[in-house]
Amino acid sequence: MYEKIKPPEEGRKIEYKDGKLVVPDNPIIPYFEGDGIGKDVVPAAINVLNTAANKIGREIVWFKTFAGEEAYKLYGNYLPNDTLNAIREFRVALKGPLTTPVGGGFRSLNVTIRQVLDLYANVRPIYYLKGVPSPLKHPEKVDMVLFRENTEDVYAGIEWQKGSDEALRIIKFLKEEFGVEIRKDSGIGVKPISEFATKRLVRLAIEYALENKRQSVTLVHKGNIMKYTEGAFRDWGYEVVREEFGDVVVTEKELWENYNGEIPKGKIVIKDRIADNMFQQILTRTDEYDVLALPNLNGDYLSDAAAGLVGGLGIAPGSNIGDGMGVFEPIHGSAPKYAGQNKVNPTAEILTGALMFEYLGWKKASEMIKKAVEMTVQQGIVTYDLHRQIGGNLVGTREFAEAVIENLDSL
Ligand code: NAP
Repeated sequence: MYEKIKPPEEGRKIEYKDGKLVVPDNPIIPYFEGDGIGKDVVPAAINVLNTAANKIGREIVWFKTFAGEEAYKLYGNYLPNDTLNAIREFRVALKGPLTTPVGGGFRSLNVTIRQVLDLYANVRPIYYLKGVPSPLKHPEKVDMVLFRENTEDVYAGIEWQKGSDEALRIIKFLKEEFGVEIRKDSGIGVKPISEFATKRLVRLAIEYALENKRQSVTLVHKGNIMKYTEGAFRDWGYEVVREEFGDVVVTEKELWENYNGEIPKGKIVIKDRIADNMFQQILTRTDEYDVLALPNLNGDYLSDAAAGLVGGLGIAPGSNIGDGMGVFEPIHGSAPKYAGQNKVNPTAEILTGALMFEYLGWKKASEMIKKAVEMTVQQGIVTYDLHRQIGGNLVGTREFAEAVIENLDSL
């Protein structure tokens, strides 16, 4: 099954039975460092995760795999089958960032991983850790989890270059068949949004909200302009609500008409917002938003903007979730200009690991990691990105992780 890597002999596999993960005390977890600053942040995060796992009597058996430049050197391929097979076999993986060329070059490896493994939800929690810099007066009000659709929309990768045979044929076809005029010098992209993919994403977001006792799920879309893709996203979302969760949710309209604005006990509210309005609402009415479900492109934009409210890209964790499978990665990219300098903030990768622990059911260890990171920042120990904003004791990537480990040990 593997060409150039070998799974560790110790440790056990995570299984998936009856729709649930079965996690041993010593799971084998594949990981890769990826490109750029991945080499700095992934090893730092792994040290923290090992300490936190030990604190609850667990041990992770890491399985090193390859993607990006490093994989290209070893396999002549940026995303070898070995890596995809390891994730398929062991179900939960930790990744570092991967570089994607802009304009030409190869397709995004990140997008490919999500599509090939059908990791249909990009789940990004955005919460405030005391002490991190924020442009908001009340950053403590920020506590959202974004569920971004991960497999379709303009990210499906269906596009053709200006002047290519395909682009010209599509332009001709649209003119002849539908009387639609498109300039001949246009690049063409296709934006598919399906009922199937929308419904499974919204279902996952609602299930998460119910399990975690959240108050609301907001469907975010640009349906006033893109009626049959983004507008349909909203309509299909409400269909899932009616068909599958009728007894545990109320819509905003029902909330005001029947309940005087008070959420009935044990229920969650379903809202919908147009995307551009949502960008200002997360700034002005932050505490009204909780779990959000979004199509791919809006979700990408909004999650970076939301991350900026609570410390920026150096802090924000993320994950890609499918049925019985999860690949965990920070929101940030490979920031090549800082690669190998022991400079950048490993917090995003560390909190990504905390999110992975939550997914494994290791809630206590996850909370401890968050607490230890918060303590570290409050002690004024910071990497350059936070130092630029709040000053303090400037340290490198490794030293920051070591301080987090010390704080973990004190819990
Ligand atoms: P980026 O790598 O996220 O970096 C943008 C800026 O964010 C950095 O210059 C830095 O800001 C800040 N930053 C990012 N990570 C940080 C960290 N750990 N600590 C402190 N600051 C951090 O975005 P990009 O420059 O747009 O993209 C670079 C490459 O990464 C591209 O090839 C892109 O396609 C790829 N990418 C990959 C992923 C992924 O693997 N999932 C995600 C996004 C982008 P300052 O310079 O202002 O300090």
